[in-house]
Amino acid sequence: MDSWDYRVFWNEAMNQFSSELSQQEYSMWFNIEYDSSTQDTIIVRVPSMFYRDQLAKTYQHAIEAKLFEISGKRLAIEFVIVKPNEAAAAGRQHDKVDKADRNDQRAAQPTPAETAKPREKHPQLNLQYTFDNYIIGENNSFAANAAMAIAANPGTAYNPFLIYGDVGLGKTHLMQAIGNRAWVINPKLKIICVSAEDFTNDFIHSIHEKSMSSFKNRYRSVDILLIDDIHFFENKEGSQEELFHTFNALYDGNKQMVFTCDRPASELKNLSDRLRSRFERGLNVDLQPPNYETRYAILKKKVETNNLKIPPEVFDVIARNISTNVRDLEAALVKLSAYANLVGMNITLEVAQQQLKDVFSQTRHGNVTIDHIIRTVSEAYKVSANDLKGKKRTRSIVVPRQIAMYIAREITEYSTTELGLEFGGRDHTTVMHSCQKIDEQLKLDPSLDSKLQKLIQSIRQMSIKG
Ligand code: ADP
Ligand code: MG
Repeated sequence: MDSWDYRVFWNEAMNQFSSELSQQEYSMWFNIEYDSSTQDTIIVRVPSMFYRDQLAKTYQHAIEAKLFEISGKRLAIEFVIVKPNEAAAAGRQHDKVDKADRNDQRAAQPTPAETAKPREKHPQLNLQYTFDNYIIGENNSFAANAAMAIAANPGTAYNPFLIYGDVGLGKTHLMQAIGNRAWVINPKLKIICVSAEDFTNDFIHSIHEKSMSSFKNRYRSVDILLIDDIHFFENKEGSQEELFHTFNALYDGNKQMVFTCDRPASELKNLSDRLRSRFERGLNVDLQPPNYETRYAILKKKVETNNLKIPPEVFDVIARNISTNVRDLEAALVKLSAYANLVGMNITLEVAQQQLKDVFSQTRHGNVTIDHIIRTVSEAYKVSANDLKGKKRTRSIVVPRQIAMYIAREITEYSTTELGLEFGGRDHTTVMHSCQKIDEQLKLDPSLDSKLQKLIQSIRQMSIKG
């Protein structure tokens, strides 16, 4: 088994924070200790759940960015709660430490990389869906961090946990990763992981077979219940009723529930109000489409894990052209490697562009990338692309930046949140504000419209060439 130790990176990161932050801030929030490492993760000890949540919210991103700067590796941080007075005595045996909080369940231990240790396979959990295989970006970091916290301490906070978002954004993966990790930490946990459809079929079957009591027993005796795609329960009154009672039993017993859905619970139709309010009770988080950097990182990871011979310039062209969902990114890789195997050819940029032409033109954003837009606008207005994405507020830059955002909003289907990310990590309200400004300007200056149309035309031409 490989072993990882990123302690030096951690120490250096803490060193740098201690000189960059005020002493008060540093001593208040960096009361954390290196614990151990897994392949992509540094596990650190924090004194309480509250501390962990605050730290995750405020500093996790900065710490991970710093670690990346220092190590050149995307290392995620995970927290394990070790109460200070017990830390010394407990040493690395965290399971002793948290007993008071956790009743009979074991607390988080230094989490082994799930794939590192051969183990029995859980019948319903897919071994590929682990946190180790999950790339964290701005689009999913809240959901992923909450998921890791839940896997470490199921049933204690964030119950139920509902992950919602469009198809192919990683909901199932994240939900199963919770199950996989919780099961590694504690193989005694009883975990059920089913789709809403399977739950429904199981329910119908048990009515026919007159085996309702064993159905009830099965679902109500778990430690963790994972149900995928709960939008399937719309219009299924019997299943809703049964799930409602299952929910209450598990909730009262502090058993963890995780659900995924293709929309927020509030938008589910034909769902009983009482079940909807149960879904909304815990933590509801959405997954957004990944930005370019995250898409690139996902492709790189998949290529590495599957040992595909695909060069980095190909990740770039895929990541630029497919921006809607991760499943489409994977499909592009599968197509390329199938082609390479069949034809016995290396995948070059030209081959990739040729082979993926149809895939690229079918994706929701078409071929137009934000990069094309930024490049075209920056040339037309003689400002640099970096300035368009940067923070400068001079008028000669602000106006072209607003124009670029406006065009992006018009001709792509990026959401304002995604656009904010693409434009140097701005908030979605900034994008909305920019679009309003240009709208106002269009009313005042009719000639602006033809300028915009010309820009759009040349962006489209550029996009076809790729
Ligand atoms: P959903 O359930 O939201 O439709 P899935 O969980 O099935 O999406 O994800 C689609 C595919 O994309 C899966 O193969 C999954 O492993 C992969 N995937 C999604 N998000 C990520 C990510 N952040 N890192 C790595 N792979 C991901
Ligand atoms: Mg799914």
